[in-house]
Amino acid sequence: MTTIETLLGDLAAGRIEVIDLTAPLSDKTTIIQLPPPFANTAGFQLHEISRYDERGPAWYWNNISAGEHVGTHFDAPVHWISGKDGYDVSQVPPKQLVGPVVVIDKSAECAANPDYLLEVADIEAWTAANGPLPEGGWLLYRTGWDARAHDQAAFLNANETGPHTPGMSVACAQWLAQQPILGVGVETVGTDAGAAHSFDPPFPCHSFLLGAGKYGLTQLANIAKLPTTGAMLVAAPLPIVGGSGSPARILAFVPR
Ligand code: MN
Repeated sequence: MTTIETLLGDLAAGRIEVIDLTAPLSDKTTIIQLPPPFANTAGFQLHEISRYDERGPAWYWNNISAGEHVGTHFDAPVHWISGKDGYDVSQVPPKQLVGPVVVIDKSAECAANPDYLLEVADIEAWTAANGPLPEGGWLLYRTGWDARAHDQAAFLNANETGPHTPGMSVACAQWLAQQPILGVGVETVGTDAGAAHSFDPPFPCHSFLLGAGKYGLTQLANIAKLPTTGAMLVAAPLPIVGGSGSPARILAFVPR
């Protein structure tokens, strides 16, 4: 048996389950909201071309429009000024779109404190219990925020002081950027905390990780269905030439 035959056999027999980490993409999909004077992204929209009618009697199809950073999506290094000489989303090597994935779960902490920030000590405690972060793989940061994904107001959780959503500290982002991981995935609207506009530097996860040629995955669903270690992730952004990111289908392969 080849390894592919073994894998296909395990998939067919249910010994490996495929979990979809992608949120549904529609005009209801929540999007980030930047304060003035910054420009904002458009949401996702379908524009019908024909639907079994005089415009096309036997076929249904749509045009689509969306920002690159809408819904479950992939952040490429060029998204941030610190990564402007790095890959655009079409240049990410295919081999890097498949890799190991681990989960750090801070959902209880984030339920108690929506401004919770992941610290280096949290990850060191995780590695002491679970082994090293996966080389060439993803660290997914579970916050429980996916439960709010259907509700723009609850998802962004903003008040007069700005958005309040979990993220990571400046020191943690700087430290993670030096680890041999591919990148970080989150359930929130971006990889940084809601309050990260006020950090020094602002948006440290974007700044340090994309600046180090790493990637981001955002608005993930179903992280709770993954084991802490031992799963594989497939991240499939569209190869938008020159693109800073792309809505992406994200799948996890989980042994059962
Ligand atoms: Mn993004």
